[in-house]
Amino acid sequence: MYQAGISGEKSLNFPLSFLDDKRFSIYHDLRLFDGVHYFQIDTLVVSQHYLLILEVKNISGTLMFDPSFNQLIRISDTKEEAFPNPLTQVERQCSQLRALLQKINIPDVPIETLIVVANRRAVLKATEEVQFISSKVIRSEYLPTKVKLLDKRYSDERLTVKEVRKLGRTLVKLHEPLDRDVLKRFSITREDLLIGVACPSCARLAMLRLHGRWYCEICGTYSRDAHLRALRDYALLVSKEITNQEVRRFLRMDSGDATTRLLRSLNLESTGSTKGRRYKLDFDVSRN
Ligand SMILES: [Zn+2]
Repeated sequence: MYQAGISGEKSLNFPLSFLDDKRFSIYHDLRLFDGVHYFQIDTLVVSQHYLLILEVKNISGTLMFDPSFNQLIRISDTKEEAFPNPLTQVERQCSQLRALLQKINIPDVPIETLIVVANRRAVLKATEEVQFISSKVIRSEYLPTKVKLLDKRYSDERLTVKEVRKLGRTLVKLHEPLDRDVLKRFSITREDLLIGVACPSCARLAMLRLHGRWYCEICGTYSRDAHLRALRDYALLVSKEITNQEVRRFLRMDSGDATTRLLRSLNLESTGSTKGRRYKLDFDVSRN
């Protein structure tokens, strides 16, 4: 889920690049406290005329907005799933941001909200209130046009250039990043993690390294790159750096030489000398 969030935000960078950076300041991934609760804003666009909260959704399939039951239904070939209504989510963020602005003495400035659907293949539908929902839920490529419309609607200058800068500095100062140390958060140690390479067919951690390939003991599947998934998990759960010995343990490889060959094939950046060499697991997490 964390990965889907990241790739969704990345795909926003392109439409956001159309906005004039002299007129708009853009903040990503803000985690703020309104005095009672923490709230998170995917992207906040700040101008002298208005603020714009963007909630990025990277969900695939057919997305059916259902305001009556306050839910978002994702329909795929095989099933239907409910998600919290993102329109309610952004409304909450909006009132929390307003409360925070009041506390830091920022004059009354309009706050707009938009849900940005980053997944190009997602199909958007609504059970009712289609006009309202389609004004609030947009595809990422429509963002620059939508911002132009908002510029027209909010022509009054509410903040000076100086106030915009001060607001940015204050938001960054108030930002409290979420602890990404997943193991600590759930009180588990790295020894608790199941080790081994998962089979792409049966998902069991039963792959053996055989002649430069992975072989599943259970279902007989072969794979050339099943270790990538395991190393990406390691990077997200344990550390972005790994030693040869730890690769060998985590992938359950018998041979040190095979581990060295595998590491060499990955062309990872490394630091330190032979024994204590640490490899950087700098995977592009948006890739699957
Ligand atoms: Zn298998």
